[in-house]
Amino acid sequence: MKIICIGRNYSEHAKEMKSEVPTEPVFFMKPDTALLKEDVFYYPEFTKDLHHEIELVLKISKAGKHIEEQFAHKYYQEISLGIDFTARDLQTQCKEKGLPWEKAKAFDNSAPIGTFVKKEALDLSTINFELKINGVSRQIGNSQDLIFSFDKVISYVSKFVTLKVGDLIYTGTPQGVGPVKIGDSLEGFLNGKSNFTLLVK
Ligand code: MG
Repeated sequence: MKIICIGRNYSEHAKEMKSEVPTEPVFFMKPDTALLKEDVFYYPEFTKDLHHEIELVLKISKAGKHIEEQFAHKYYQEISLGIDFTARDLQTQCKEKGLPWEKAKAFDNSAPIGTFVKKEALDLSTINFELKINGVSRQIGNSQDLIFSFDKVISYVSKFVTLKVGDLIYTGTPQGVGPVKIGDSLEGFLNGKSNFTLLVK
């Protein structure tokens, strides 16, 4: 499987990153070795500025290429929360040099994932989600603020990359990204319900 991540999909986050609000989706990928299903994350030695990015995650349930937006909803059945961990210091260096971001984004265990929920259980147009660290709210988002909808994202990515069963799409983070440190306890909430916990060691 592969992990596709959408960048800058909430305008307030694009602003906090001093990035332009995109006119078409921006995406990058993480390998399957990035997926973390455990509830412990070990702070990597190559960064001093690891950032959390809480995101809604779609699980692809049907293979497809050149998926039309109007049919895209048939290609995923379940949604979860995940974190797109980012070595912000490395990413900034890469951006300054015009280099790819992979080492800042695609490293091992950089994609923690929560519990998947059937999409029928959610109103997709207004999914609330939140990240708390040590019990304090750090990021709050809602799917209604997505620049590019789930269906638009699936359609767009599938023009370039064949989607396969089990692939994950991290759909972008809302504003409020910031550093995590060793000892932090992270908890993600999907419509107010705890979806995952993660201890940083
Ligand atoms: Mg992200």
